[in-house]
Amino acid sequence: MAELNAIAPSKKERVMDAVRTAGVDVSDWANFKGGNAKAAVNPKYCYEWAFIEPSRVVVLNLWHTNNQLVDGRVIQKNNFRRDEANYRSWGKGVWAKRARKIDDALQQAVSDNLPVRVILLDGKMRDRLDADATRSEVTFRQLDPELWTITSYDFATGENTIARGITTDKFVDQFSIDQIDKGSPDRRDVTTSAFVRDPQVRRDCLRRAQGRCENCGSQGFKTPSGALYLETHHIQPLAEGGADTLSNVIALCPNDHRRAHYGLDTLDFRDKLYAAIESK
Ligand SMILES: [Zn+2]
Repeated sequence: MAELNAIAPSKKERVMDAVRTAGVDVSDWANFKGGNAKAAVNPKYCYEWAFIEPSRVVVLNLWHTNNQLVDGRVIQKNNFRRDEANYRSWGKGVWAKRARKIDDALQQAVSDNLPVRVILLDGKMRDRLDADATRSEVTFRQLDPELWTITSYDFATGENTIARGITTDKFVDQFSIDQIDKGSPDRRDVTTSAFVRDPQVRRDCLRRAQGRCENCGSQGFKTPSGALYLETHHIQPLAEGGADTLSNVIALCPNDHRRAHYGLDTLDFRDKLYAAIESK
């Protein structure tokens, strides 16, 4: 488990400093009676488990103890909606609210394709399935320098998996690149997608394509991480009620993707694209 130990937090950063570094605007932390001097312990913020900077980043507080190593990748499986329901039934309303916010942050990250940053915690972790467990004690808290990826999120149940890093994939699309761009500190572009795209569908589609355009067969170009780049495209657009499922999503080279949107023959082209993935 050397890989897991290597990322264990070893300092106790202040929450405010960690979230500021991650790209969250913390100017409001000083707006209380403690003023600037006490901003870092503003109770409105400093106990939260998740922070959302709209259109820019979400930051999650997660226990290092919950990290697992799967196929060489650090992942966590959580269900904050289940936690919220438990806390509520145990009369822990404040914890329930914090759990809800971390679930909201995940939903927003998926919907708006936002980068995910993680503050890793270590210390005495409360058992979240034990109604009588006493509260956790944080010994170490540190912003993980890597971006994380939500690899699955079930909107029906809140069940989710997040993985450390975003560039270990062999295949990437425009949304992966967008996350990497937004994760760099000097980018503040506002780009939001109006429709939720299931990250698992994109990944399955890219895996089906194996780096080759599913229309013309040409190989996607290589990105600096070594991954092959194609663009995932909804054949019937989400705006027209198209499904966000593997049978409606195709991986295309950038040229064919533009053609699908702006070509003279877009409707005929749709039929061709459906035929291309049906035969796979
Ligand atoms: Zn192509």
